[in-house]
Amino acid sequence: MPIATVNPATGETLQTFDAMTSAEIEQRLAAAEAAFRDYRETGFAERARLLDRAAELLDDDLDHIARTVTTEMGKPLAAARAEAAKCAKAMRWYAENAEELLADELPSEADVKDSGASAARVVYRPLGVVLAVMPWNFPLWQVVRFAAPALMAGNVGLLKHASNVPRTALYLEELFDRAGFPHGCFQTLLIGSSEVEAVLRDPRVAAATLTGSEPAGRAVARTAGDEVKKTVLELGGSDPFLVMPSADLPRAAAVAVTARTQNNGQSCIAAKRFIVHGDVYDEFAARFTEGMAALTVGDPMAESTDVGPLSTERGRADLEELVDDAVRAGARTLCGGRRPQGRSAGWFYEPTVLAEVTEDMRIHREEAFGPVATLYRVAGLDEAIAIANDSPFGLSSNVWTRDQAEQRRFLKDLQAGGVYFNGMTASHPALPFGGVKRSGYGRELSGHGIREFCNATTAWYG
Ligand code: NAP
Repeated sequence: MPIATVNPATGETLQTFDAMTSAEIEQRLAAAEAAFRDYRETGFAERARLLDRAAELLDDDLDHIARTVTTEMGKPLAAARAEAAKCAKAMRWYAENAEELLADELPSEADVKDSGASAARVVYRPLGVVLAVMPWNFPLWQVVRFAAPALMAGNVGLLKHASNVPRTALYLEELFDRAGFPHGCFQTLLIGSSEVEAVLRDPRVAAATLTGSEPAGRAVARTAGDEVKKTVLELGGSDPFLVMPSADLPRAAAVAVTARTQNNGQSCIAAKRFIVHGDVYDEFAARFTEGMAALTVGDPMAESTDVGPLSTERGRADLEELVDDAVRAGARTLCGGRRPQGRSAGWFYEPTVLAEVTEDMRIHREEAFGPVATLYRVAGLDEAIAIANDSPFGLSSNVWTRDQAEQRRFLKDLQAGGVYFNGMTASHPALPFGGVKRSGYGRELSGHGIREFCNATTAWYG
């Protein structure tokens, strides 16, 4: 994939970038290693000052960077602004909370004595240079939710961003530089995915985090495994959205529309499979389809647009193949199922609802990365859970029920890294984020996230 800014709303290539040479990559690796030597000595107060400054600069740049993001990957401008604002919030959250999250842990006096020590504690120390391989769908947020905790913990970062968001990638490097982080603390590598292995194998790189597809995750984990380096993987998802008879149906249907189409349907935590109890299926399906069909698809720079184009031509082709396969195998299209009429340029696709989806269809097992929802009618709780778990993925889940016994059962049995009741999945700095099964491993955000790239060191005193 060339490293280029291509506007997905028009298909026009706006700028291409040369991949960095091996000498340039070497320079950055050396700078990262040198930066870590000094940066690890800084205290939390100094790191917090720098990160707060980065948040301030990002707030000032909100409109400019939102336009860059929308130009490169096509999300509606308001969503791009919200993403940038969320990044500033997460930076402030980690600036404020990192010291406490990484405070020394003291075992009980009895356990200390039992270990034969006069004193013992756990100290969180940084690992070093962390390589972050990131996707284009939330091109600011995915990076910041890694960078803010990593930098607060005393690590330094090397970013290999997706090849279609180079302007955003360069902006992020410049942002941390302008905030005053010492040179080398956060650098962007403009490289293709084939260069990732060599960078990860470099002895100066201690660990890696990847957010992206399963094949990319597998490739990075394979190399990291070979090198025995720590990884965190945030991969794909096909989150269930379960609706039981006690749900507030109008609200559930309205939230379902947003949960499916946020970010033009290209979110790992978007609800993708709508599993609805037979008692309320018809009403939910009607309300949901009406909401999906009413969305405005169009220019992502226009404030009135709900759904912009898909980010790449390949992404739209993949989605079309999934829909066509399902329709050929007997799925019924309740709305959408095609490109918008009268639009020749750009990679647009209509919000789509498919009913009567069955296990033999590819869309039942694969991730639909675009505004396409699948509907399932179930007879009860057991069947709802069985279908929800019948997926290789296990990122998050949404459950609509006011029945507390049902809530307990879903919380016990859903195979997912999150169970959101009567609302949609959304990340927050204070709550861990990540999945199980093929959605990856490790956690981002909260105390769990900041500790992923720390060496939990036992200090034992005889
Ligand atoms: P992708 O193709 O896997 O790309 C993600 C990143 O990995 C890009 O920087 C890409 O570089 C790089 N990459 C691709 N193949 C690689 C390889 N073999 N070795 C090393 N690096 C490689 O994914 P995407 O299409 O950008 O993003 C969509 C996917 O990400 C979806 O599956 C979505 O669910 C998932 N996602 C997950 C989360 C989460 O938190 N769990 C969040 C957002 C997205 P190039 O661009 O140069 O190919």
